[in-house]
Amino acid sequence: MALDNGPTMDQILGWCKRRGAIFPSSDIYNGIAGFFDYGPLGIEIKKNLKDAWWNSMVHQRGDIVGIDCSIIMHPAVWKASGHVDGFSDPMVDCKVSKMRYRADQLYFAKITVAGELLGYVSVLEDENMQSEAEQQADKLKRKQAKQGTLDPVVLKPYTEAMPGEYALIPSPATGQPGSLTAPRAFNLMFQTHVGAVVDDSSVAYLRPETAQGMFVNFKNVLNTNRLKLPFGIAQMGRSFRNEITPRNFTFRSREFEQMEMEFFIQDNADWQHWHQYWVQTRFDWLKSIGLDEKRLALDVHRPEKLAHYSRACTDITFHYPFGVQELEGIAARGNFDLTQHQNASGKNLEYFDEAEHRSYLPHVIEPAIGVDRLFLAVLCSAYHEESVENETRIVMKFHPQIAPVKAAVFPLVKNRPELVEHAKQLHQKLTRHWFVQYDESGAIGRRYRRMDEIGTPYCITVDFDSLEQGTYTLRDRDTMEQRRVSESELMTFLLEQYS
Ligand code: ATP
Repeated sequence: MALDNGPTMDQILGWCKRRGAIFPSSDIYNGIAGFFDYGPLGIEIKKNLKDAWWNSMVHQRGDIVGIDCSIIMHPAVWKASGHVDGFSDPMVDCKVSKMRYRADQLYFAKITVAGELLGYVSVLEDENMQSEAEQQADKLKRKQAKQGTLDPVVLKPYTEAMPGEYALIPSPATGQPGSLTAPRAFNLMFQTHVGAVVDDSSVAYLRPETAQGMFVNFKNVLNTNRLKLPFGIAQMGRSFRNEITPRNFTFRSREFEQMEMEFFIQDNADWQHWHQYWVQTRFDWLKSIGLDEKRLALDVHRPEKLAHYSRACTDITFHYPFGVQELEGIAARGNFDLTQHQNASGKNLEYFDEAEHRSYLPHVIEPAIGVDRLFLAVLCSAYHEESVENETRIVMKFHPQIAPVKAAVFPLVKNRPELVEHAKQLHQKLTRHWFVQYDESGAIGRRYRRMDEIGTPYCITVDFDSLEQGTYTLRDRDTMEQRRVSESELMTFLLEQYS
């Protein structure tokens, strides 16, 4: 179900295109699926999100430190972590259209009327898949001129098809049965070769997650910082996954950025407490940077769905225009990763607990979020269309901390040099502290609208009173209210908003 008044994907895409926030990568060559470039406005928002995360996870805490690891690591890392053998999705090929699908995102149903089999339908996972399957089933019934009501259409993931069924389920690309293969495991890691010789011994991988950097550096960080459990190691950076079906814009890309933190705790600590603590802390943070609370929810993984080493996992989901999806995962991973790396490297990765006079491998809680998914959730929360004076005002209600441009300075008119000069000087002063834009073109109303559309929280207009009395008009993006302020009041106000 779509939430009331939420933006559509078309509105979000239209905004990104109009304002140059995100472009398809290699656009002039018609793009490359699953890769994106951030434009001048997009990169400001992205940087603000990353800064906000780093501030809350590292700078504002005494118990978490940061690192920045190489993207290509020793291939043994990915063997030990289980990614070489197990980081795969089930893939299905359509032999006719050459389309590929993730079998767990491809659903099918057996269509029956009063228990009599009419055939099969297939749909891709999305918000409307049930109604789409029902429409297809209805068509099938009419085609076969069957009387009677359809039995309920029950969708199952393609991974649950029986061996004989694969040939009967139609391909979503052609609508015809017989072309879909059985699912097979497809490893999502991008391979490359290191060095001049290209053979099996030179194979390396682009990291599919940043997390392993923290485990591999556990001892390096421990030995060079005065850390005591519980403590965390945080990292943000690029990750790469050769997703079978990149889709929903930047939501599922092949190159993306992650912000992950490994929070190490004693092996006998109350891990449920720490898991809950991080679920709550991360949920509160997402609200604090302006995500629409109504769209946020928790998805607690059922024990049978957990990886064998995982003790618990809770996703923070966001209701995107294309459905409810994982935004951030908070996993309790036991000491699986440190154990694996200790065994594979032969290096002792244990922590010596001075209070308890014993050594052990700590356990870990991992909050992991994708920057690009967060970016999209921020856009969906901020986008508003309002009717103002018979016009539609598009306004991005970004949290001030996330807004790409913090304020704009306008001279009332551009043909009065004294106003222009004064406005430029004020602009210069403000840019020492914040990213502030100067705009003199067009009527003031138009300039306000331009700033509303990119989510600039405050506009400052320099008029003739400014020259005589040193006061400015300060206009608020959300309320559109205007008030007079002196320069010192303006500075104090902006400092309060942005500190
Ligand atoms: P999904 O089930 O959606 O593929 P995941 O559970 O595999 O995601 P994790 O391995 O837990 O994802 O990665 C942590 C975070 O990284 C995710 O919560 C998500 O925000 C982000 N992320 C993962 N894969 C992608 C991707 N292909 N594109 C963009 N962000 C991603």
